[in-house]
Amino acid sequence: MTGRRAARVAALLALALLPLTAAAGDRLVVTWHPARPRIGDVAWLHLRGASETAVVEGSVGHRPLAFFPYAGGYAALVGLDIDVKPGVQPWRLAVLEPGLDPRPLTGKVTVVPRQFPVQRLTVPPGMADPDPETERRAVAEGQHLQMLYRTVSPERLWRGPFTRPVAGTEPPSGFGARRIINGKPRAAHSGADYSAPRGTPVVAANAGRVALVGDYFFPGRLVALDHGLGLYTLYFHLDSVAVAEGDRVDRGQTLGTVGATGRATGPHLHFGAQLGGARIDPAALLALRLAD
Ligand SMILES: [Zn+2]
Repeated sequence: MTGRRAARVAALLALALLPLTAAAGDRLVVTWHPARPRIGDVAWLHLRGASETAVVEGSVGHRPLAFFPYAGGYAALVGLDIDVKPGVQPWRLAVLEPGLDPRPLTGKVTVVPRQFPVQRLTVPPGMADPDPETERRAVAEGQHLQMLYRTVSPERLWRGPFTRPVAGTEPPSGFGARRIINGKPRAAHSGADYSAPRGTPVVAANAGRVALVGDYFFPGRLVALDHGLGLYTLYFHLDSVAVAEGDRVDRGQTLGTVGATGRATGPHLHFGAQLGGARIDPAALLALRLAD
């Protein structure tokens, strides 16, 4: 046995002898992944040193975090909204353990700026500036979606990597684009667009529950999946829908087909992601790597 191999075996043996869970009083360690997230990223925090019975709460800026047990410690996803200011953001968390004083922990994370393209689009006038009644409908639908995104279900339903919602390898486009529609500046585009022929299957990016099936003015036929702990993925402009509200779905399960319903210039899937009310880049969600 080489010296290095012997050392590794000794280390493994030592590990095997350690209790599996951290004990109260262990030093708390927080790691950010990535260490310097960008605007629109979904980052995650890994907390080690808290016991199995701990309750962990925290926030980044003003956004609360939802922790879940992970790899002998705890983890929480952090959504950095499309319009978040780059620069230093304070974070704080508190570890509450039975019979012990709360253990607070604070720090700062630097959010890296990102340039977004400007996109000029022309749509039929009624789609850019709807009549007052349609406008009221669109506003109510938007408010309904906002309320949904702020509903935090307590159970984490997703596991492992997130998958592309349409087959293929072509990267999506348009996240964060500052849109000028019929010559007027509009809100930033908060999803990723996959161009695909009408009828192409659209699949669930990860396991979750169908929180909403609707036919809305701008998004068209839509499905919203709740993955738990404040994470939602959104599938807009569908031609057909194959699931119903309340259904539990697995990663890769067909939700419907690509279409051009709502405000769409042609058949494509608008794929969006929301975390704790932050509009995040779906590409960042697809790149997320947690061990389970
Ligand atoms: Zn879109």
